[in-house]
Amino acid sequence: MNYNIVFSLSSFFYISLIAIIYFAKQRVKNKENTVYSLLIVSNIIGLAVEVFTAFCGKIFPGQHLIEEIFLRLIVVYFITWISLFSYYVTVISGKDKPSTRNTFKVIYGIFLITSVLLPLHVKRRAGVALYSYGPSIKFLYIATLLYVLYIIFILLTNFKNIKTRKYIPIIIYFVFGTLAAILQMINPQLLITSSIETFITILMYHTIENPDVTILRQLNMEKNRADKANNAKTEFLSSMSHEIRTPLNAIDGFSQLILEENDINVIKEEARDIMSASQNLLEIVNGILDISKIEANKLEIVNVEYEPTKIFEDVSKLAKTRIGNKPVKLITNIAPDLPDYLNGDYGRIKQITLNLLTNAVKYTKEGYVDYSVKCVRKDNVCRLIIIVKDTGIGIKKENIDKLFNKFERFDSQNNITIEGTGLGLAITKKLVDLMNGKIVVDSVYGKGSLFGVSIDQIISPRTKDQKSVENTAADTLISYNNRKVLIVDDNKVNLKVASKLLETFGVSSDCVSSGDECISKINDGFIYDLILMDDMMPGKSGTETFKLLKQNPDFHIPVVVLTANAIEGMRENYIKEGFNDYISKPIDKKELERVLNIYLN
Ligand code: ADP
Repeated sequence: MNYNIVFSLSSFFYISLIAIIYFAKQRVKNKENTVYSLLIVSNIIGLAVEVFTAFCGKIFPGQHLIEEIFLRLIVVYFITWISLFSYYVTVISGKDKPSTRNTFKVIYGIFLITSVLLPLHVKRRAGVALYSYGPSIKFLYIATLLYVLYIIFILLTNFKNIKTRKYIPIIIYFVFGTLAAILQMINPQLLITSSIETFITILMYHTIENPDVTILRQLNMEKNRADKANNAKTEFLSSMSHEIRTPLNAIDGFSQLILEENDINVIKEEARDIMSASQNLLEIVNGILDISKIEANKLEIVNVEYEPTKIFEDVSKLAKTRIGNKPVKLITNIAPDLPDYLNGDYGRIKQITLNLLTNAVKYTKEGYVDYSVKCVRKDNVCRLIIIVKDTGIGIKKENIDKLFNKFERFDSQNNITIEGTGLGLAITKKLVDLMNGKIVVDSVYGKGSLFGVSIDQIISPRTKDQKSVENTAADTLISYNNRKVLIVDDNKVNLKVASKLLETFGVSSDCVSSGDECISKINDGFIYDLILMDDMMPGKSGTETFKLLKQNPDFHIPVVVLTANAIEGMRENYIKEGFNDYISKPIDKKELERVLNIYLN
């Protein structure tokens, strides 16, 4: 065949390169990519057929039939490529529907069959085919023209749906395609259409939406993770709101009742309920604080001497009150041979035991909760073994591993009415880990659960008798006679609470509601043994007031910050500022007593 094969060969080379790059890449599965893949493949096959046809006469001399078959295949290729290209335009314009696809297939089939059936003549010179012509070729031109008209129609009717850069190959196709058609009509030997199509296909490669699938997958994973965290937070907030409102409801309700009640016994009973509800509220807030400490890796274990039996009995009493009137029996077995005193963080040990016991009580509708504490002694170490067994709803096997994740709550149908935040076990596990202990779970869904904790504690050499002697000795030393405290707080109720609590220790107090008033009192020569200073006050903060007081070299009154700013690290911050001590609100009477012991005694 006497035409310039260089175009076809170089086009074949380039499109093969593009094909390698394109198919080697992980692609998003969408229609645009599918049609584009077909366009590449058809272009490669078309060019291969074209190149082969060029050498056909030489490879098979005199075999005109083979040559004619390949010439027809070229016609098939042209129809296929333009059909795919117009389908591609349909896809990118967002007009692809199953009915459109079917219509496309039918029209393509008709065009293909017609072009194959129509006669095709071959112009030869000296036995070598120069080009083909005749009705089949004419029909190819008509079919191409129809496809082009369709493309123009789609472009005009869906102007806004198609992204600007996607127009580039289409417009170039129109310009170069028309040019090639004219040139080929003038000189039928010049076969450059397939090369133009290669050029268009290569251009299209740069306009195809083909984001990196790996990155997409990672983004998706991150999105799922963020969604999950967000949902957990939303759930947490809604359950928190419920958790907080429940005790608040009791506090509010009983307070109103007290105001209307005259019977002192009823008032006392209701006040006790208020205390229990506020205790509950405090536990919730402390839970949130604990989680914030855990996240900041700042949860610390503070070891002091404590009476284990008392702690474990306290927990049992607390758990008993939580059973209410459910038909659940609490069996408590605290080994009588527990050492009198242990060294450890009793607050945290209590928290761990209470969490497990509260859960057992919460998630058991009937039956029993068996709570036992044992000690395995080795030298001066007591391995505390705390076991809580219940006949409750149990935990599914697949959930056991997730049990200690924060905010995880399971079996929502079964525990829809059970209050909880999903923080308890996360905190419990962390506390056990911090004390180098172990926690185990065994549960049969629908039957019950067993939680076991083992923690080593150092046995204190003191015995109960020694301690009580010392205690009594210490107690007798405490005397707050003639001691006076200045309380600084902008909130009147807080002033009242602090002053009333001080009264219970026999300590008298003056109350002021701002930093300025505090400074005036001191400058006016009032003498105090201690100042309890709120920090967050309008005007001068407690810290600012304290700094101003300190500027006076004659000021030596101990100042203890009394604040609701109780998040992790605050105590250390205030001590760094120079405050003598720190008490968080709500005031724990024991904490107040500790401070009074130090500064008034
Ligand atoms: P909360 O009880 O506040 O939801 P926890 O962290 O203490 O949070 O417990 C997490 C989840 O583990 C609970 O919501 C519950 O589904 C399950 N669970 C914990 N203890 C028990 C138990 N003794 N019996 C059955 N399910 C339990």
